[in-house]
Amino acid sequence: MGTQEEERKRGATMTTNIERRAEYLQKLRDPKWQRRRLEIMQRDEFACTKCDDTTSTLNVHHKYYRFGAEPWEYPDEALVTLCETCHQEETELAGVRRGYEREIVELIRVENFNPREVLGLLSTLAYHRITPGIMSEAIHDATPDLSIGKLHVIAMYDADQDATSN
Ligand SMILES: [Zn+2]
Repeated sequence: MGTQEEERKRGATMTTNIERRAEYLQKLRDPKWQRRRLEIMQRDEFACTKCDDTTSTLNVHHKYYRFGAEPWEYPDEALVTLCETCHQEETELAGVRRGYEREIVELIRVENFNPREVLGLLSTLAYHRITPGIMSEAIHDATPDLSIGKLHVIAMYDADQDATSN
């Protein structure tokens, strides 16, 4: 495969991401989401669940995203009311998570990836409470035949090897 082909693919992925983002923002205007977020805010008594702020603008935050799910198609426990400040903090943390996901995807792409590195990243992801759903999506985009399950098996196998060789 030539470099030109890779460049073309990368360009196509970027366009898809921008389109997905625009589509998502449009969905947040849907009355079904307006109703869902109001339900969550009522449940949380119109206060930030992290700092109890009741005076700042409130947002309803998705703790995780599931591939193909509409913003309003999440269970109660996936949605939480946050003030602007806390929402920004959570969104930044989500950015950190996506960074790790990309690193893992890159490691898998490289032919001679080191399973030990993958294992290290997996523990970091577990620490940041990365959901398998989020990670599966990121991995699926890069290598459709590799699943989070398989990745765990690779990492666990390496851990076993370490345990038996020491
Ligand atoms: Zn807050």
